[in-house]
Amino acid sequence: MPRPRRPPHGLNLAPALKACFLAVMTKEATSRQPMSGTSACSGPEENVALKVPSLAHPSPRDFAATETWIFDLDNTLYPAECNLFAEVDRRMAEFIAKYLGVPLPYARHLQKSYYRQFGTTLSGLMLVHKMEPGPFLDYVHDIDISAVPESPRLRAAIEALDGRKLIFTNGSRRHAERVAEKLGILDLFEDICDIAACEYVPKPDRAAFDTMLKLHDVRADRAAMFEDMPHNLEAPHALGMTTALVHSSYIDHPSQLAMRKWTILPQHVHHLVHDLAAFLEGLRRRDR
Ligand SMILES: [Mg+2]
Repeated sequence: MPRPRRPPHGLNLAPALKACFLAVMTKEATSRQPMSGTSACSGPEENVALKVPSLAHPSPRDFAATETWIFDLDNTLYPAECNLFAEVDRRMAEFIAKYLGVPLPYARHLQKSYYRQFGTTLSGLMLVHKMEPGPFLDYVHDIDISAVPESPRLRAAIEALDGRKLIFTNGSRRHAERVAEKLGILDLFEDICDIAACEYVPKPDRAAFDTMLKLHDVRADRAAMFEDMPHNLEAPHALGMTTALVHSSYIDHPSQLAMRKWTILPQHVHHLVHDLAAFLEGLRRRDR
């Protein structure tokens, strides 16, 4: 399928989402290179554990000035081994197949192509197919979350952090509320910044972070971002935030595959976290 070079005629996009689309198209036009490490047709390499050793950043930012603790949701606040996001991922392809009337393998191809081009599959569907986001988000998040464990240790670790806490997700607020409630941590968060609040401009786009910071009156240089996708930490690093990559066994993006070649942490990843609760407990201990 030829890649679109401009929004379809007549598509009335929010300015921020349109800027996101044009940025992607400009980048693509200048590179014209296939993404390394994966095929555009391939699905996620589920539960492939990367052999990422304990890497250190040469000059990591610390958490001494952190006033706002910001957490991604999927595969960050709960472990990828719950297979929750794998179910969301499966339902995305199902929805696309029904919505566009195409075979499931082709829907899967579109899903992953849009994800890699636009930051989320949803952005691609909105930009290329003029799809309304509501029914898609409702369908893909209509999942059984019984595999998500109650996490009293994580709760205690987050509760002990001094400052405000936010969830910042490319998913929906309802999904974040359900999962955080199941984990037993929902009440610890001041608010959830979801994809609708960001006018459907997703991480890793810088505009999504600008919107989140503005909406919640957060100073970037006094905030920390926890996230399982390495490329989603590039903008927060550039904005002055402390960044922490939470290791996930769910591999779904070329930037995760590239981690196999890391010998030191890249500039935008200040800390590598294997166990979120233990890491946060360690921060607390160092504060004493
Ligand atoms: Mg995530």
